[in-house]
Amino acid sequence: MNTRLLTIIFISIAAAGSSFCQSKSDYSTANMDNKKKTYEIQKSENEWKQILSPDAFNVLREKGTEYAFTGKYDDFKEKGVFHCAGCGNKLFESKTKYNSGSGWPSFYKPVDENAIDLEIDNSFGMPRDEILCSKCGGHLGHVFNDGPKPTGLRYCVNSISLDFQKK
Ligand code: FE
Repeated sequence: MNTRLLTIIFISIAAAGSSFCQSKSDYSTANMDNKKKTYEIQKSENEWKQILSPDAFNVLREKGTEYAFTGKYDDFKEKGVFHCAGCGNKLFESKTKYNSGSGWPSFYKPVDENAIDLEIDNSFGMPRDEILCSKCGGHLGHVFNDGPKPTGLRYCVNSISLDFQKK
């Protein structure tokens, strides 16, 4: 197969994979700061590769998306806290986790508003609101406005970006 064909196949697969974790969203971007932030935790690409698995590196540092229904925390109901798999920052609590049917762990809010940052992600020709760890800038997933009460938000997160600590 030539390189061009491979590239087309790769883009198609990537677009299909990411489209499951999206929907029409007019979630307010008022609290987004699109100036590039200097994160508290700074590591080189090689340093991240030494502490993350190749799959975790792809999602956290290269903004990849794991396949739906494959992550370890999608169908997962234990009580505890989910931390950033890159830096340990406390991100989500099990009491705000719900089954969205999307195939990715879904939460209706983060542990507190300072735990995550939001950025506009225009990849694949559709604006989405990207969720990042506020301490290391690791890519977590996206947030949409089709979540349950009380927030109406759905934080759609890759399992591989999370580390669970049982209560
Ligand atoms: Fe982090």
